[in-house]
Amino acid sequence: MDARRRNQYLEAIGVDLWVPRHGAHDGATATDTATATVAPVPRSSGAVAPAVAAHGVLAAEPAIALAAAAPPESLTPEQVAQWDELRAEVAACTRCVLHSSRTQGVLGVGNRQADWLVIGEAPGAEEDRRGEPFVGRAGQLLDAMLKAIGLSRETNVYIANVLKSRPPGNRDPKPDEVAACLPYLMRQIALMQPRLILAVGRIAAQNLLRTDVPLGRLRGQVHHFGELNTPLIVTYHPAYLLRSPGDKRKAWEDLKFARGVFRQLM
Ligand code: SF4
Repeated sequence: MDARRRNQYLEAIGVDLWVPRHGAHDGATATDTATATVAPVPRSSGAVAPAVAAHGVLAAEPAIALAAAAPPESLTPEQVAQWDELRAEVAACTRCVLHSSRTQGVLGVGNRQADWLVIGEAPGAEEDRRGEPFVGRAGQLLDAMLKAIGLSRETNVYIANVLKSRPPGNRDPKPDEVAACLPYLMRQIALMQPRLILAVGRIAAQNLLRTDVPLGRLRGQVHHFGELNTPLIVTYHPAYLLRSPGDKRKAWEDLKFARGVFRQLM
């Protein structure tokens, strides 16, 4: 991706571009230069396991690169059957009370062999109606954010939620609902074996990491999730960013941090 195109994506996201008067140095773009000035976020305690330096890793990385170049989905018949079975189970699930108010279960969307897995909170009204996670304005913003680092639900990322059914009124998920639904996500992860998980939003991050540490303190570090110890990075939910556009730059910092971590995993 060239700098001009990426800047177009950033403008679409709503991230203001800072352009130095005499141009950026050492090949860094204006956006990268601005990000490198951000102080590392303090690490939280306990359940999190930092593996690499925080935002400082970004200062040394090349300015322009795709996050991942995943091949097209190529599932074996057995894998197709496992995914079909999972989708059917979610569609018929009555494990928690949410089944009674949902229109349909929403399993996920994207490349089921992608290296990147994005996990949100739960379907909203539009997702419940359409059967796909992250649609509507928040979904469009998420797509633009992912596109800025070379990711797309059509090719090289998979998107899912912690809960597969919509909580009424978009209320926060209850602990028993998360406990009932999490095994589906675990099966998705076992089937996919992603290299990196991006948890978007406080609810997803806190439920996945089993912590009540505020989102701001979970950002900027590498956590790990599940039996596969998959690296997990936290950022803001696009719906929050629509309400608080001043934090879009922080989300962009998170995405660049995730991209840098991903490169180290390759
Ligand atoms: S939220 Fe999960 S556990 Fe609850 S009914 Fe939906 S699919 Fe089943």
